[in-house]
Amino acid sequence: MSFENLNLDERLLEAVDACGFTKPTPIQEQAIPVILEGGDLMGSAQTGTGKTAAFVLPILHQIINREPVNKSIGPRCLVVAPTRELAQQVEKDAVDYSKFIKFTQGSVVGGVSYGPQIQMLKRPVDMLIATPGRLLDHMGQGRIDFSRLEFLVLDEADRMLDMGFIGDIRKIVGAVPEKRQTLLFSATLEGPILRMAQSFLKEPESISLTTNTKNHEQIEQRIHWADNVSHKHDLLKHYVAEEEMSQAVIFTSTKRGADELVNQLNKRGQKAAVLHGDLRQSARKKTMDDMHHGKIKLLVATDIAARGLDFKNISHVINFDLPNTAEDYIHRVGRTGRASATGTAISLVCRKDWDYLVSIERLTGKKLKRDNIEGLEAISKEPKNRSTLGNAGRSWKPSRRGSIKRRRR
Ligand code: ADP
Ligand code: MG
Repeated sequence: MSFENLNLDERLLEAVDACGFTKPTPIQEQAIPVILEGGDLMGSAQTGTGKTAAFVLPILHQIINREPVNKSIGPRCLVVAPTRELAQQVEKDAVDYSKFIKFTQGSVVGGVSYGPQIQMLKRPVDMLIATPGRLLDHMGQGRIDFSRLEFLVLDEADRMLDMGFIGDIRKIVGAVPEKRQTLLFSATLEGPILRMAQSFLKEPESISLTTNTKNHEQIEQRIHWADNVSHKHDLLKHYVAEEEMSQAVIFTSTKRGADELVNQLNKRGQKAAVLHGDLRQSARKKTMDDMHHGKIKLLVATDIAARGLDFKNISHVINFDLPNTAEDYIHRVGRTGRASATGTAISLVCRKDWDYLVSIERLTGKKLKRDNIEGLEAISKEPKNRSTLGNAGRSWKPSRRGSIKRRRR
């Protein structure tokens, strides 16, 4: 299967070619024909499998091939995404794929000034990409005209639910025209996501390519047991000095922890920068650009900040702390090995991370490999009394939300 088989406009094929894509990914291959037919769709596939192009390309194709409903202002397509980084990445992709056609896009996200957004909303725009909070803010002020909206996309719907945006999404869906094509993308299509899809989509097709993807098979995942934080620092120093490491994202559980870690790394002469929710938008943008251009080798980030990050050259993900949900672990690991490249994920685990490791191994259904670095061996031992895998798959059932909650201590 090649892109040529998908009946997309020549100029879109040229743009895809300019991006260096040789063939569609499985979700693209399956979703593009359905979307071109005009039906609603819910699609799930692992992070990093090209879901953005799967909806942007067929929407671009339809937008250039038919007249807008009216000549009024406002968007023809609205994409709602959970975080500003993700929204900006979708916008960047839309820019890349539309470079040989006449097409306009804009974003409405928090953390940046209102002025340019207000100006943009006074004009027609083909695609508007938004985060829920700022979008509702503008909607509340009567600044958005949805009268010519034809497409609504809910991207990373699972994350939007996790982040508590369900009420916001309901308001947004209620404000756009009934007659529209609605697309929903998510890493999973279970429980609450399915219910959300059923209430917002009309007789949707469902494409689910998530089987067996939880393990991130193309990513080598290991842990190293650590005695304490200072031991973690020594281990980190060892891993970042390894030759195979081109760029890494290092995760910490708190913003303060991220700031401290980046200071330590900089003191040791490492090119490291931090990304978390307290930073001004301009600082975040600079960091993202520096990563894209390879000016930074190590990015220290918290979970929220790293959601949707997509840097092609990330060879390693390092969990300085383990996240407190197994799903966040899967999302973190997905920052490496993007678009079929391989990657390595290393977690530094000490006593306080132990419960989280248990959850992760239960969710992925496999025991992670244990590293042991000569000269840096732990003095303490990993607890043995509780098998991490136990009878995984038999005794473990996903909670109703489909996620593993923090275990009680
Ligand atoms: P997802 O939304 O599924 O997490 P993205 O849409 O962010 O994934 O895509 C992940 C990466 O794969 C991006 O860097 C994107 O440019 C790249 N990509 C998308 N489609 C293809 C393709 N057909 N061939 C190669 N790379 C692709
Ligand atoms: Mg995506």
